Amino acid sequence: MTIEELKQHVRNVPDFPIPGIQFKDITTALAHPECLKCMRDELVNRYKNLGITQVVGIESRGFIIAPAVAMEIGAGFVPIRKPGKLPAETIQISYAKEYGLDTIQMHKDALNENDIVLIHDDILATGGSMAAAIELVKKTGVKKIYVNCLIELVGLGGRKLLEGKADSIDCLLEIEVDE
Ligand code: AMP
Repeated sequence: MTIEELKQHVRNVPDFPIPGIQFKDITTALAHPECLKCMRDELVNRYKNLGITQVVGIESRGFIIAPAVAMEIGAGFVPIRKPGKLPAETIQISYAKEYGLDTIQMHKDALNENDIVLIHDDILATGGSMAAAIELVKKTGVKKIYVNCLIELVGLGGRKLLEGKADSIDCLLEIEVDE
């Protein structure tokens, strides 16, 4: 399966969760066995030779592909979660969203200065959540941070916001924000 074919399996849901948002629904691609395999294989090929020790997934759609990739490249999996979900001691970051503040947490002992990390999420939109995730991971002193999203929503400035914050920023496919 090609990336272009994969793109055809991402469903656009207009006006979800609020009017005016074109929601990119990856569940249609996840339910398609060849798409699922394509997403995993593409990421494995891109990240297998970089010495990555931990794949960090952002709750919740960043939890779907990340563990499969981690297993294939010989890395572990670390979750970044919403407040109050992780049981042990956490570190956290709060960041501005369109309306109000959002907070994300990670276990304090999940990463250390010997780790090389891939942070993964499903969609890069404005980049606010990924920028916060990078900042959170940086607190642990890791050696390198690679960033990957399945989809880049082009036109929202996410890539620009992340520029210079990570060792690389890479998305499998690009979709125009109004496409
Ligand atoms: P942002 O912080 O603006 O880059 O938003 C990224 C997060 O919000 C990701 O975790 C996505 O799952 C979700 N998200 C933002 N915009 C969309 C969209 N148009 N369709 C689906 N998910 C979105």
